[in-house]
Amino acid sequence: MFDVIAFDADDTLWHNEVLYTETQDKFKELLSDYLSADAVEEALYRTEKQNLHHYGYGIKSFALSMIETAIEVSDGQISGQAIQAVIGLAKDMLNAPVQLLDGVHGVITALSKSYQLMVITKGDLLNQESKVSQSGLAHCFTHIEVVSEKTKDTYQALLTKHCISPRRFLMVGNSLRSDVLPVLAIGGQAAYIPYHTTWAHEIVVNPDQGGKVYHELEHIGQVPALVRRLSQT
Ligand SMILES: [Mg+2]
Repeated sequence: MFDVIAFDADDTLWHNEVLYTETQDKFKELLSDYLSADAVEEALYRTEKQNLHHYGYGIKSFALSMIETAIEVSDGQISGQAIQAVIGLAKDMLNAPVQLLDGVHGVITALSKSYQLMVITKGDLLNQESKVSQSGLAHCFTHIEVVSEKTKDTYQALLTKHCISPRRFLMVGNSLRSDVLPVLAIGGQAAYIPYHTTWAHEIVVNPDQGGKVYHELEHIGQVPALVRRLSQT
């Protein structure tokens, strides 16, 4: 049934969003003299969204957006020391150890014996490559693709590049917006495994599935059974 099974990385293979929410809490604390926590969160999200097309995704972009927000929120009064603290927060994120989600090691190792596996992730190239390498799973994947955005066109281009028929392609990930809907749109199959928290930017209300269905799972441990079931139909 499938030639290739591809996995998203952040919050599908390893924990990621918690790192951002923990850092945001520290950032809000740092700016508590200027604005309420909610207002800082709103200002930061606004800046991040505005900056996406300049910087793309990832920790370095997040750091620049935190610095910009701190200057804006403090009306230029933020101290050099506070900016240094923000840079420290970003470096702590970059240095955080990779923590695999439960079941990932076993599932990826087992599936790699029967299928070609890929990682398709967006974000910062250096950081994503370093996480793949730290995960101890790099040898299980035939290709690691780090892209700047996961749209229908991105997936189409990747499938063409690797000579994969969409009908024989399964994508597994935690974002309807990035991992599921664009894959359905090009005729592939997708398994959606929600993570317990989702960045506002990735949330889709009333998703347009174009009449196609995706498979919603509770955890990655259910992927092998889904693959078996789909292969029998
Ligand atoms: Mg993800």
